[in-house]
Amino acid sequence: MTPEAQQERTQVEELLAAWTSSTTSDKRLCIFAADDGKLHTSALYKLLQSAKGDKSPQASFTWRNKAPPRVQFFAWLLVRERIQSRAHLRQRKVLDNATCEVCSEADETAAHIIFECPFAASFWSALNIAMSRETTTAQLCELAPAPHEPLIYYSTFLLLCCWQLWKRRNNAIFRSQQEPLQMVLRAAREDA
Ligand SMILES: [Zn+2]
Repeated sequence: MTPEAQQERTQVEELLAAWTSSTTSDKRLCIFAADDGKLHTSALYKLLQSAKGDKSPQASFTWRNKAPPRVQFFAWLLVRERIQSRAHLRQRKVLDNATCEVCSEADETAAHIIFECPFAASFWSALNIAMSRETTTAQLCELAPAPHEPLIYYSTFLLLCCWQLWKRRNNAIFRSQQEPLQMVLRAAREDA
C-alpha cells in the first residue's frame, strides 16, 4: 500500500471502531440517491456528461484545472449547491434545523460555508479576495484574479481554497477541531 492508502485505511479503521450497528433502517446520504433511496442515474449521467463535453463556464471551472479529482468532484457538487450542507440535508428532510453549527448565525448553505461563515470571510480577506455578501457558489467561476496573479491556475487555486474551507468545516463539526486561520492558509498553500 502507498503511504496515502495506509493513512486512509487508518482513518477508516478509526471510523469503524467508533461505529456500532443498530436495527433501525439506514439514512441514505448518497447525493445520487432519490428520496426513496434508489440510485438517481440521471444525476450520475449529468456528472459524466459535464466532465466530458459541457463547455459552460461552470464546467470549465470545475473540470479544466489541475486540482485532484476528489476536489473537482467536490467543486461539481459545490457549484450546484449539492454538497451535504445542513440546508441541503433539511431540503432532503434528513434534518429539521439548518443553522450553521460553527457560528450559529445563519442557515448553513453552500454559500454560507464558503463565503459567509465568519471563518470563511476572514480566510478570503486574508487572501485579499473580495467576496460580496450575495455571491453564490455558482458564481465562483466568474471571479477574476488580480493583475499580478496568473489566470491559468486561478480556478485550481480557488478550488483548493474551497476544499480547505470544506475540510475545516468538517473537522469543526465532526472532530471538534477548529483549526486557526494561519494553519488553513498554510494547508491551502501546501496543496497548491
Ligand atoms: Zn457559520
